[in-house]
Amino acid sequence: MSNGSLHRIAFIGIGNMGWPMAARLIEAGFDLAVFDAAPDRAARFATEVGGHAAGDAASAVRGADAVITILPTSKHVGQALDAMGDALTAGTLVIEMSSGVPTATRGFAESLAARGVTMIDAPVSGGVPRAKTGDLAIILGGEAQAISRADPVLRAMGTTLTHVGGVGSGQAMKALNNLMGAAGFLIGVEALLIGQRFGLDPAVMVDVLNASTGMNNSTQKKFKQFVLSRRFDAGFGLDLMAKDVSVALEVGRDTNTPTPFAALCREMWASAQGLLGPGQDHTAMAQFSERLVGETLGGGNRAAE
Ligand code: NAD
Repeated sequence: MSNGSLHRIAFIGIGNMGWPMAARLIEAGFDLAVFDAAPDRAARFATEVGGHAAGDAASAVRGADAVITILPTSKHVGQALDAMGDALTAGTLVIEMSSGVPTATRGFAESLAARGVTMIDAPVSGGVPRAKTGDLAIILGGEAQAISRADPVLRAMGTTLTHVGGVGSGQAMKALNNLMGAAGFLIGVEALLIGQRFGLDPAVMVDVLNASTGMNNSTQKKFKQFVLSRRFDAGFGLDLMAKDVSVALEVGRDTNTPTPFAALCREMWASAQGLLGPGQDHTAMAQFSERLVGETLGGGNRAAE
């Protein structure tokens, strides 16, 4: 659009997060073309929520003012950008919302800039519940002018927008946030297992932690809801969490920062990925710790079974 405002949006990746985020944009009145590599996913979204389903990435982005990508990894983002090809034209703003690899995103941004296309990174935090309510935290990396151009689009999906630096910086910050989430989850499960062996009730322990200094996001939003309930369906994949911790470690390596604790954390999440198999929810990580101990939280003692 001539005044630089964004109305026509190509939304690429209608997954656990993309679906509710795209739904918020429809609700806010944006004109959306949606595409997902999973057959029928975009068509189902268009029927159930709205917008136009595109048959491929290139048709989705043709004529768009902005392109949003929210895909599992930077590798998928690279594939999607390749598939867009020449349909992505000068003046279009690419808002990369995946939890990606900062160096990869900087590489994408550089090649796109050579074609007159600006990319910012805008990874999100808050999970599926806050994606549904449009209450995500959005962490921004890129040029200030491009970020202010994206502002009305981002405000339809998030309420806390923080510009942390140049392109890729949002994703570095996001990976470090998830490193803390991943470590907090692991140490919390370990504490619950110790407590249960001692004779404490894990559900009571969670209440005590939430009223005490041991409280963290997992004690507040994960242990009772998804672990002790044995539901393991928070809507964020274990593979994705393992990827995020690896990205944090990569940022540590790139900055020559010793990361002994983060390295152990990554090895545990990566091991759980191998042991539990693909497609698990990240809260199933508790089952890895349970197997190490031979005890099920809130359930029977495996060693005695
Ligand atoms: P998801 O696996 O549910 O969805 C990803 C979607 O991308 C899938 O529908 C897949 O078919 C599609 N896809 C893959 N490659 C594609 C391509 N080349 N072109 C088009 N579509 C393609 O993942 P998600 O949970 O929605 O997460 C997406 C990103 O957001 C990840 O980087 C994740 O780490 C991050 N994230 C997730 C959560 C969460 O709670 N789920 C929270 C914050 C951030």
